[in-house]
Amino acid sequence: MAKRLIRTLPEFEEIRESDVRIAYLSSHKQKKRRNRIIYGECHKVDEKYAWCCHYDFFIVIYEPNIMDFTDKQIETLIRHELHHVGISFEGEDISYYIEPHDIEEFWEIIHDCGLDWSEVNATG
Ligand SMILES: [Zn+2]
Repeated sequence: MAKRLIRTLPEFEEIRESDVRIAYLSSHKQKKRRNRIIYGECHKVDEKYAWCCHYDFFIVIYEPNIMDFTDKQIETLIRHELHHVGISFEGEDISYYIEPHDIEEFWEIIHDCGLDWSEVNATG
């Protein structure tokens, strides 16, 4: 599923153009953080583990937490995690980093006001 997303979505052009190596893991842990259920995570493999881990990133999906997800929700989750794969091209040099989220907002505000509540409506 991840490979298909990388191949078909324009937003993953940088992943296609680099030879970044991503591992996909599934965990049986019911991971939580500050009472919030964690569905998945994306981690960059630290340089110091490069000798034993032949991946640049790993994406973990917490299976017990997504049991009720539809296929579409799982796809969106993987798409979300892939967005954290940050690649910077500087000439010949490629470096990797974790891309932070574009938005920081609270669930209640997203629910009541939408994501674009602060956007000014340009008319005409
Ligand atoms: Zn995220």
